[in-house]
Amino acid sequence: MEIFSTIADTRSAIAQLPPSLALVPTMGALHEGHLSLIRAARRDSSSVAVSIFVNPTQFAPGEDLARYPRTFEADCELLKREGVDLLFAPSPEEMYPSRTPSTFVEVPGVSDRLDGVSRPGHFRGVATVVAKLFHIVQPQTAYFGQKDAAQVAVLRAMVRDLNLPVDLRVCPTVRDADGLALSSRNRFLSASERTSALAISRALRHGQSLVEAGANTKVVLPVMRDILDNTPGLRLDYLEIVHPDTLLPNPSARPPALIAVAAWVGTTRLIDNALVGATK
Ligand code: AMP
Repeated sequence: MEIFSTIADTRSAIAQLPPSLALVPTMGALHEGHLSLIRAARRDSSSVAVSIFVNPTQFAPGEDLARYPRTFEADCELLKREGVDLLFAPSPEEMYPSRTPSTFVEVPGVSDRLDGVSRPGHFRGVATVVAKLFHIVQPQTAYFGQKDAAQVAVLRAMVRDLNLPVDLRVCPTVRDADGLALSSRNRFLSASERTSALAISRALRHGQSLVEAGANTKVVLPVMRDILDNTPGLRLDYLEIVHPDTLLPNPSARPPALIAVAAWVGTTRLIDNALVGATK
């Protein structure tokens, strides 16, 4: 695996790769969720590039940018074992030489829903960095996890509206055996917090079975909220049933329906979701 930290070196190495190139953007602290995207990319493409970049523009002041886990050496070992061809791991200065960029990619509407409500500006940072990564790496396909469902909606809209020549592929959420969605932030959880966090996937499973049985949002949300509100140590940020593409409320909960949860467990914010009747 070749590792580059500059855009120029990355571009000249990519020019040598065969034409079918897939990109898997990550913030590192890699786990099986990330690896599932890499394996899907390897199945479909002749070359796979991964990026590791903890993107400052998607963190608001006071969020966990400084404490976000960074495990670069271990990540490199995993990526080599997965047969990744190229790793782009830039510094913040390489990506944002002027520190505060003056150009941003904005996807209004979807960016202001779900996480966009509690994390204003978050999706502007995500869209901007992903657009930059697409321009730097120039992949034909890019892989994202269903775990970050709102991010998927924002990036699909960006690719469509800007006619970006990248095919977005979305892979299912990888979970631990007990149901907890894998996340780089799970390592912050104490044993008792981890037990509390399990209420999120439990509530989602319950909600999903109700939606599949035809229940509407008015019926499903109180049942789920009851599970979450009665979990010690867990504080709900949002719980909504929306359309997976627009992220607008879906009162009937008729598929396609995205049941989305964000909750604080101690000082760690976790997100998870269940998709009923996938659109694509
Ligand atoms: P992150 O490093 O958290 O920014 O995630 C990088 C990519 O991995 C994103 O597309 C995430 O949606 C995806 N991802 C994170 N956790 C999981 C998971 N448990 N299952 C599948 N994909 C995931």
